[in-house]
Amino acid sequence: QSQELSEAQVDYHAALQALVENGTRMVCTGRMHTDRICRFESLCYSTEAEEFVYFHSNSSVMLPNLGSRRFQPALLDLSSVEDHNTQYFNFVELPAAALKFMPKPVFVPDVALIANRFNPDNLMHVFHDDLLPIYYTMQQFSDLDLEARLFFMEGWSEGVHFDLYKLLSNKQPLLREELKSLGRLLCFTKSYVGLSKITTWYQYGFVQPQGPKANILVSGNEIRQFTKFMMQKLNISLEESSSEEYIVVFSRTINRLILNEAELILALAQEFQMKTISVSLEEHSFSDIVRLISNASMLVSMHGAQLVMSLFLPRGATVVELFPYAINPEHYTPYKTLATLPGMDLHYIAWQNTAREDTVTYPDRPWDQGGIAHLDKAEQERIIKSTEVPQHLCCRNPEWMFRAYQDTKVNIPSLIHVIRQTVKSKPGPRKQKWSGSLYPGKVRDAKCQASVQGTSEAKLAVSWQIPWNLRYLKVREVKYEVWIQEQGENTYMPYILSHQNHTFSENIKPFTIYLVWIRCIFNKNLLGPFADVLLCST
Ligand code: UDP
Repeated sequence: QSQELSEAQVDYHAALQALVENGTRMVCTGRMHTDRICRFESLCYSTEAEEFVYFHSNSSVMLPNLGSRRFQPALLDLSSVEDHNTQYFNFVELPAAALKFMPKPVFVPDVALIANRFNPDNLMHVFHDDLLPIYYTMQQFSDLDLEARLFFMEGWSEGVHFDLYKLLSNKQPLLREELKSLGRLLCFTKSYVGLSKITTWYQYGFVQPQGPKANILVSGNEIRQFTKFMMQKLNISLEESSSEEYIVVFSRTINRLILNEAELILALAQEFQMKTISVSLEEHSFSDIVRLISNASMLVSMHGAQLVMSLFLPRGATVVELFPYAINPEHYTPYKTLATLPGMDLHYIAWQNTAREDTVTYPDRPWDQGGIAHLDKAEQERIIKSTEVPQHLCCRNPEWMFRAYQDTKVNIPSLIHVIRQTVKSKPGPRKQKWSGSLYPGKVRDAKCQASVQGTSEAKLAVSWQIPWNLRYLKVREVKYEVWIQEQGENTYMPYILSHQNHTFSENIKPFTIYLVWIRCIFNKNLLGPFADVLLCST
C-alpha cells in the first residue's frame, strides 16, 4: 500500500488513472453523524466550489450508504462539538467520467486528517475541542502518525495558538484558505474526516444549559498521556526532584481582573509558606507557563479559558477557581469537571465573590465585552439588581456576559477560609503511590447446596472462589455481594460478605428455586461483574 502511495507521489499519470478507474472509496466508523469518522481514498476538494467531491466509478465504495439520509442533517460532525449545525461535513457526488472536463487534480500524498477547529482563539476550546480530540483521533488510526498532515476547514486564520496545533504532526497544518494556492481540484490520496469526541468532558450549552457531558469517557490517565506528549514536543522535562514548592496565580490582564492581586499573592505566600508567582498569557510564553504549572502545588485563577492549563498540573495539586459576583460556580464547571475527572487526582475549590461592593461592573462597554447599554432600561435595571445570573443557553446571554466581565476585589479571609476547608496542611503534589483502580473479574466455581428442615424451613449454602485476577493483586479490601432472588420474583435479598461462602437461612423456603447472583467488590466502590447466575433448588 505504501508502494501505491509513493507512486502517487511520483507518478502523476498513474494517480490520475487510479482516480478515474477506482473513484472514491469511503468506509466509516460510527452509527450516527455525531459519532462518525470516515476514511477515504481519493476524496477530492474543489477549492472553487469549496465542496468536497466523491467520484463514482465501478470500484467506488460508500459505507454507510445512507442515500439522502446523508443530508439529515449531515454525514458527520467536522468538529468535536456535538451536532453543531455550522460544523457539518458532506460531499457532492460526480461520476468519475466528469474528471475529463474538470481542472487537473493536484494529489495530496500525505495521509490527511480533515477537521474543523471550533474556536481557535480561546484556549479552553483549543485544548478541549481540538488538540485532545485530534491527538486521540490520530491514536485511533495507525496511519495518522507524525507524518500525517492536518487540514483545518473551519475557515479561520491561524489564530494565536497555532503553534500548539503544529506540535501534533511534523507537517505544517494547512488552512482552508491556503488550499486555493495548491490547485483548483485537490485529491487526498488517503484521508480521515472528523474527530473523535471520546475525550471531551463538557457541553457548552447549545441545547441545554452548559455542564459536564452526560457520558464522560476519559480519565486522567489519557489526559496526562496527552500532556506528556505536548511537554515532550515543547522540550519541557518533568523535574522529578523539584526543589521548591510554589503556588501559581494565573491572572488575566485585559478583563475579569483580580483588583487586589498583589495583596492576594502576598496572602497566599504567607498562609501556605510558599513562594507565590503570577503568570499571564500576555506576559509569559506558553512553554514557560506549562513549565511552571507542571510543578506547581496550587493554581489560583479567575474563571476563564486560561484555567484549562490545569491539564498540566501534577497529581495532588489544588485548583482554586475564582468566580465574579452573581455567577454561580455550580453552573459553569468546565474546569471543575476537568479537575475531578477520575484519575486526574487534583483537588478543586471554587470561591465566589458574594459582596456587591467588591465587584466592578462595565455596563457601558460594547456588548461583546459584557456591556448592557444596548438593552432597554427596564432590562438593564433588572440585570443590575439581580444577585445571580439565571441559567441560560450558549453563547451571548447579555446578563451572563455582563457578570462574566466584572473585575473583582478578592476578599482574602473568605478565600483563605474556603481553601483551608480542603487544604489542611501544605498543598501540593504529594508523592503518591499509583492508586489506579482495577476492577475484579468474575468470582469462579460458584456452587450451592440446599438442605430442607421440615416443611417450612430451608438453608442454602453458597460458596465460590476468588476472581482470577485477585491472585496477582494487592487489594486493601475484598468483599462479595450476593443477591438471592426467588425465581419469578422481581425483588431480591442483597448481602455484603467478607468470605467465600455463606449459609443463608433467613427467608429461605423449602421446595423453591432461587437465583443467586455473586460479584466481587474491591475497596468499597470497584464493582466487578456478576458471575453466571446460579440456580439453587431447595
Ligand atoms: N484572555 C487572556 N487574558 C485576558 C482575557 C482573555 O489571556 O485578560 C484569553 C483567555 O484565556 C481566552 C481568550 O483570551 O483564551 C478569550 O477570552 P474570553 O474572555 O473571551 O473567554 P473565556 O476566558 O471566558 O473562556
